[in-house]
Amino acid sequence: DQTLQEFDPEVAAAVGQELSRQRETLEMIASENFAPRAVLEAQGTVLTNKYAEGYPGRRYYGGCEHVDVVERLAIDRAKALFGAEHANVQPHSGAQANTAVYFALLKPGDTILGLDLAHGGHLTHGMKLNYSGKILNPVPYHVRDEDGLIDYDEVERLAKEHRPAMIVAGWSAYPRQLDFARFREIADAVGAYLVVDMAHFAGLVAAGLHPNPVPHADVVTTTTHKTLGGPRAGLILCKEELAKKINSAVFPGMQGGPLEHVIAGKAVALKAAASDDFRDRQERTVAGARILAERLTRPDAAEAGVKVLSGGTDVHLVLVDLVDSALNGQEAEDRLDEIGITVNRNAVPNDPRPPMVTSGLRVGTPALATRGFGEEDFAEVADVIAEALKPGYDAAALRGRVEALVRKHPLYPDL
Ligand code: PLP
Repeated sequence: DQTLQEFDPEVAAAVGQELSRQRETLEMIASENFAPRAVLEAQGTVLTNKYAEGYPGRRYYGGCEHVDVVERLAIDRAKALFGAEHANVQPHSGAQANTAVYFALLKPGDTILGLDLAHGGHLTHGMKLNYSGKILNPVPYHVRDEDGLIDYDEVERLAKEHRPAMIVAGWSAYPRQLDFARFREIADAVGAYLVVDMAHFAGLVAAGLHPNPVPHADVVTTTTHKTLGGPRAGLILCKEELAKKINSAVFPGMQGGPLEHVIAGKAVALKAAASDDFRDRQERTVAGARILAERLTRPDAAEAGVKVLSGGTDVHLVLVDLVDSALNGQEAEDRLDEIGITVNRNAVPNDPRPPMVTSGLRVGTPALATRGFGEEDFAEVADVIAEALKPGYDAAALRGRVEALVRKHPLYPDL
């Protein structure tokens, strides 16, 4: 039996290169993180061999007694961590989780309200090329021009006008906490389901640093690989009365066999998320984002045309606004890439530049916090980014400062 290296050196080499890339650069894509070794290990186990259609105790295949233990652990830990009545841990991804929820609770043609993609929403919240936009009737709500915050009055007005069957709250690019009570009130006023997609901020919720949507929403979906720091996958939480509908929409509605090796990774990540270490990491994540926002709103940054949407952040990311900068989003992304910092360009609301170019950057702190970054390190990263966005930046000097941070916080030292 050969190792990966022996059997397929080409794939092994690319994996090795990716490990080096992750080690040698500063990962600031807000939706990324570094799964702990125990999660990587769980995903690389023989559980990948097992068919387990159905749910624990009610499978359509024999030999499921051990994967049942794993899946029950994941379910129980998800329920306990977020205080939910029911958890389905089988969605292969966040998009699958959202689609299953729509499939469970809506009919084709039903109206949903979701945050506009260009204002920070996700593809699955009603973008026209996504299943949610093709099969459903999406009505987008927006952030306000003046302060970049969600316009709850608009949400209420649109809800009364369009009588949606569902309101989706949640985001991929929004720097503030959501008012779940307000969303609930609006949903109740028009008899709509309230679904919260907490994919981005689930780790903050788990650590008690962000309000928990579970008591307010009919259903909560999440990914497990962003702030939560687990394997690349999704999960769904809901009230007991919707459990049967949700389970049946995931399997047999949307998916076949669950990925039990990934579910094992979710169980491990959910155990980690209940720890004091995890809370400390999330605190450093949020503190790091605040430091970044503060240093990117100083006068020298403003002089270079750099602003921060909503003026700051309450979460794990900062949205840099380059509308007034000579640099566009693409150029800024490339410039940071050149000095060893990975971010993604991101459209800002009412972006004057085309979607492939954009006038913004989304900069997140979860992966660096996982790497061990503290406030002092984040201040240094923030200064490096601020310098890089100025005209006449010194790429070699900035690259050197990035390398010093990389060396200070080694990643996966034992891999
Ligand atoms: N929901 C939100 C809010 C997201 O930001 C994302 C991912 O970016 C998803 C869902 C989809 O997750 P996945 O990429 O696992 O399908």
